[in-house]
Amino acid sequence: MPIRLHNTLSKEKELFEPLDPERVTMYVCGPTVYSYAHIGNARPAVVFDTLFRVLKNRYSNVVYARNITDVDDKINKAAREQNVDISVITQKFAGIYRDDMAALNVQRPSIEPHATAHMPQMIAMIEKLIANGNAYAAEGHVLFHVPSFKDYGALSKRDMREMIAGARVEVAPYKKDPADFVLWKPSDDETPGWDSPWGRGRPGWHIECSAMIETHLGESIDIHGGGHDLQFPHHENELAQGTCAHDGKLYVKYWMHNGFLNVEGDKMSKSIGNVLLVHDLIEQTPGEAIRLALITGHYRAPLDWTANGLVEAKKKLDRLYGALEALTDIEPAANIGAPDAFVDALEDDLNTPKAIAELFGLAKAANTSTSAEEKAQIKAQLLAAGDLIGLLQHTPAEWFDTAKAASDIDGEKVDSLIEARKQARANKDFAEADRIRDELDAMGVELLDSREGTTWKAK
Ligand code: AMP
Ligand code: ZN
Repeated sequence: MPIRLHNTLSKEKELFEPLDPERVTMYVCGPTVYSYAHIGNARPAVVFDTLFRVLKNRYSNVVYARNITDVDDKINKAAREQNVDISVITQKFAGIYRDDMAALNVQRPSIEPHATAHMPQMIAMIEKLIANGNAYAAEGHVLFHVPSFKDYGALSKRDMREMIAGARVEVAPYKKDPADFVLWKPSDDETPGWDSPWGRGRPGWHIECSAMIETHLGESIDIHGGGHDLQFPHHENELAQGTCAHDGKLYVKYWMHNGFLNVEGDKMSKSIGNVLLVHDLIEQTPGEAIRLALITGHYRAPLDWTANGLVEAKKKLDRLYGALEALTDIEPAANIGAPDAFVDALEDDLNTPKAIAELFGLAKAANTSTSAEEKAQIKAQLLAAGDLIGLLQHTPAEWFDTAKAASDIDGEKVDSLIEARKQARANKDFAEADRIRDELDAMGVELLDSREGTTWKAK
């Protein structure tokens, strides 16, 4: 079956027909590297890594670029607070991001362009936009003039007034229209800046991605991805400037967005204290279980991340590795790939829930088969399917060893003790509540109480 992908622009599942089947191009907005990645940031990394694998299975040359945003006001703030150069912060967190994603079996993209390495390209693109009458310089800034692009709003499908209100667009005296957005802004002496025809300054966020796309992938690309929150304003603005800088040429053929991730029903936020960092999670749980928990649901649906979901994902992997373990003495059959139904599911707009159900079908067949020949085939299919979805990358021996080390703590017991402590507190039996906390403490569990309830992590 041919690949079909949901396009945010048409709101429909479309047949995937690359502009050039000899060079399929995909760009995904990567992290802003000023801190650790949270589990929400891991969602697009894992989703588009899965798509990268699926595309490579079909096409011999897939060029996937995922950028590193290493110039940004949040980075500047962190550097100022720590009294270091921005590169100290960005290099540190880009490295941590790479390692954390590798723990989730996220492959390195073909290219990881850094925004700071593309200043001449950004400046050239801005000059082209000015020459084309789509942008103007004012008081050290350069702004994209939104009314100059008649299709503005087509991607996020919002009414212009609603968009401006929603994004709290800054109304500045130098703007011709309140919707106009910044391509370039001035930097004071304390802020990182680059020389430009408009004075010393720095780029706006949107132009970074368009310039990196043009440099590494070309003027028109096949797939552009990111989280749902990037549809507006980031991708709407990219689409406007990317199209205008190339004289109306197609900018992106398929726009794809993953749904948002919440934690135990709440939006992650520092004030609630429920921000889960990948860096911490991989200390407690095998990365593969985190990956499976991220792709158990469909990528476009919102995802409610729960501690229980992660425990379930790990149990599922125990079952899959258990099936492989029983086949330890069997040599996988040669020249057998992932089963058609599995590949079809992934090629149908990345239907990972269906693909995972197919994996379990294979594991079940392995457990019930009595034929050595059949077992050899199933083993080959399981391994190939695992590669395609980024799971089963360990040997069963490695898995059960690391899983044991990571789960010295009995998650179910912890959950029931937390529940008992909650009851004790509700009954005002604080002595019992404290006793349970001590028991958990002795098990190596640290409790994290918040308004929303209690979560835990291994100490
Ligand atoms: P940022 O570093 O904030 O620019 O985000 C990097 C990527 O993570 C972008 O593609 C975002 O859309 C995505 N992202 C951020 N938070 C979440 C979330 N809670 N759920 C899903 N995706 C997210
Ligand atoms: Zn971007």
